[in-house]
Amino acid sequence: METMRMLTNEDEIKSLRQQLDEANAAIEAIRTGQVDAFVVEDKNGPRLYTLKSADQTYRLFIEKMIEGAITLNQEGVILYCNTRFANMLNIPLGNMIGSYFKNFIPDEFKKSFNSLIRKGWKEECKQEVALVSSDGKLIPVLVSLTTLDLDEGTVLSLIFTDLTSQKKIEKQLREKNELLESANALAEKLNDELEQRVSERTNELLTSREYFKFLADTIPVIVWTALPNGEHDYFNMQWYNYTGLTFEQSRGTGWQSVEHPDDLPGILVAWKKALISAEPFKIEVRKRAADGSYRSYIMNAMPLKDSDGKVIRWFGVSTDIEDQKKDMERKDEFISMASHELKTPVTTLKAYTEILLMDAESHENPIQQNMLRKMDIQINKLTSLIGDLLDVSKSNSGQLYLDIEKIDFNQLVKEVINVMQLTIKTHTIELNLAETQIIEGDKNRLGQVITNLISNAAKYSPQSDKIIISTASNSDEIKLCVRDFGIGIPLSQQPKLFSRFFRVSKNTYPGLGLGLYICNEIIKRHSGRMDFKSEEGKGSTFCFYLPVKK
Ligand code: ADP
Repeated sequence: METMRMLTNEDEIKSLRQQLDEANAAIEAIRTGQVDAFVVEDKNGPRLYTLKSADQTYRLFIEKMIEGAITLNQEGVILYCNTRFANMLNIPLGNMIGSYFKNFIPDEFKKSFNSLIRKGWKEECKQEVALVSSDGKLIPVLVSLTTLDLDEGTVLSLIFTDLTSQKKIEKQLREKNELLESANALAEKLNDELEQRVSERTNELLTSREYFKFLADTIPVIVWTALPNGEHDYFNMQWYNYTGLTFEQSRGTGWQSVEHPDDLPGILVAWKKALISAEPFKIEVRKRAADGSYRSYIMNAMPLKDSDGKVIRWFGVSTDIEDQKKDMERKDEFISMASHELKTPVTTLKAYTEILLMDAESHENPIQQNMLRKMDIQINKLTSLIGDLLDVSKSNSGQLYLDIEKIDFNQLVKEVINVMQLTIKTHTIELNLAETQIIEGDKNRLGQVITNLISNAAKYSPQSDKIIISTASNSDEIKLCVRDFGIGIPLSQQPKLFSRFFRVSKNTYPGLGLGLYICNEIIKRHSGRMDFKSEEGKGSTFCFYLPVKK
């Protein structure tokens, strides 16, 4: 630019242009090997440079190299430059030759370049440096320096290998490596966490197994576990203490040896059924103790299932009920004895009351009549309670005998209801009878069942005034249902309803909790069955089903 401003006339411009053309022509001639020497004008005047072993092959070789190549004189002027180097810096070849090499070195590298070049004049050397292209881009290069002896003197040859793509790859590699390292670190961390969790879980499992064993050995019942195929694989201390068997004698099917021979077939059928259905198992059994005596047990087993519903293991508990059974037997004996003892005096009381009532009626004594009628009602209640207790005793001892005859079912129902409607003043009994069937049964006992169900319906529905009796039948059985709209029975209480002495509302309503038990026993003795539906606060429907003889 400085030089341009100094040009004063067109001749000078022309002469410079001519010099440039000549220079370009000379460069082209050198590049293509048309000349072996050229003259450079420097501060000491024109100098002739000639390649010592100049030949065309050599020049073409340099020209085709993928490395950039230049030669410098002592002053750092570029004497020769191949196309690759000019392209590297994105500068026309013509602008390179004759220029100072330092012009193409970024400032921050100038110092290290100078010392490198100084070193290059003394010995062959290599170094990674950066050049700057015409558009200001830094180009990482590996430069190899070596001196070349030419006829007119020594020059410095610089060969540049462009490291841009290598650096790029190195950078990518570094990034990939970093990614890999962080992935590795993450994997290692996860692995550590996993190991930690596995060890924690193992500890937890060991602890929970120890807890389970401790708990099982502490509770006063026999505990056992079985595989899904039914083979027993664990027993608690109580088992070994009671049976006197070892684990080897008990495992698998060995446990069966302590079951009472009369109970075993039933146990095996129930156990097989439970294994197939994967439903809870419950049965009353007698187990032989180490001394050869037997005690009664309730065996319960529950299947532990996985998320797909497949049984993983059975957990069983056998509870000793021998003492309760003995208590129950003693209670039954007492009830039987007491009810028999009570029966005679109450029957006598009733007879005398009736005689007195007849006497009071004949003497037209209304006060006595009234009192004696009340006495008679109470004696009837007492008789009915004693009757219930006697029935329970009979049922327990298998002495609930039936007086079987052919019965027109509808006829029986109507007779019972006519009598009931006379005593029940608070409710209307509605009747929905299906076509009648002839059944075989004990008329009195079946009447007792219907009476009991209607009495309960009235007793447990004080706020309502209606009871509905309905019957239905098919060729196999006949059904009778008694529906009320009373207090109903909570769901939790329903499973025990047919048990002896079981009562839901103990204090509010009078009763012994025997009625339903006796009804169920009577119906069972007729080869029938009972069921019920009930909703608390809405009412209940009790039904029985009897087989129809063909
Ligand atoms: P109870 O003498 O107590 O009536 P039951 O054996 O007849 O004895 O009935 C047993 C229990 O069942 C009763 O105490 C009562 O709680 C309940 N129960 C029976 N029938 C009904 C009913 N129709 N509605 C509501 N609860 C009933």
